[in-house]
Amino acid sequence: MAASAGPEIERLIALLAKLPGLGPRSARRAALQLLKKRDQLLVPLAAAMTEAAEKVVACSVCGTPDTRDPCAICSDPARDDGLICVVEEAGALWAMERSGAFRGRYHVMGGLLSALDGVGPDQLRVAELVGRVKGTGAREVVLALPATVDGQTTAHYLAERLSGSGVEITSLARGVPVGGDLDWLDDGTIVQALRARRPA
Ligand code: ZN
Repeated sequence: MAASAGPEIERLIALLAKLPGLGPRSARRAALQLLKKRDQLLVPLAAAMTEAAEKVVACSVCGTPDTRDPCAICSDPARDDGLICVVEEAGALWAMERSGAFRGRYHVMGGLLSALDGVGPDQLRVAELVGRVKGTGAREVVLALPATVDGQTTAHYLAERLSGSGVEITSLARGVPVGGDLDWLDDGTIVQALRARRPA
């Protein structure tokens, strides 16, 4: 079958199709839109992507992407060092920040334990978390992980690894829907879930 567009456009579509939520069909529509809105969309997007690729790094303390290391949250002196909120990915961190309900620090795991996908503790930022909790003498770790099988497996594993360190381990109350990703929730739900957190 002949490609319906030139190789450059097909390549753009193929790359866009790898983004979450975009299948081949939506990728084709997105590419078309980008090409139509060259000055408003395509050129500024390309520049923003180049800039992000050059400047954004993972914070060496918490793992969140930022243009500086340590990131803005880790270097904010007004935040509570004794409180560390553990999230799967930075999307959940951003959702927590939008809610404005949390004034501690974060730790981004970079994924979840998954027997099915072959993800073990070594592929996640587990050792960094354990080291951080011991090093900073944090008093509470809030496990804000998804209410999925992998999320709960990861939460149990982390609770076990941190037991004996003297830190209190809590998890978000379940106004959070089962299977729900934190970054899909409205701010009010996050605020409630955080207030009603309970021992993990
Ligand atoms: Zn950080």
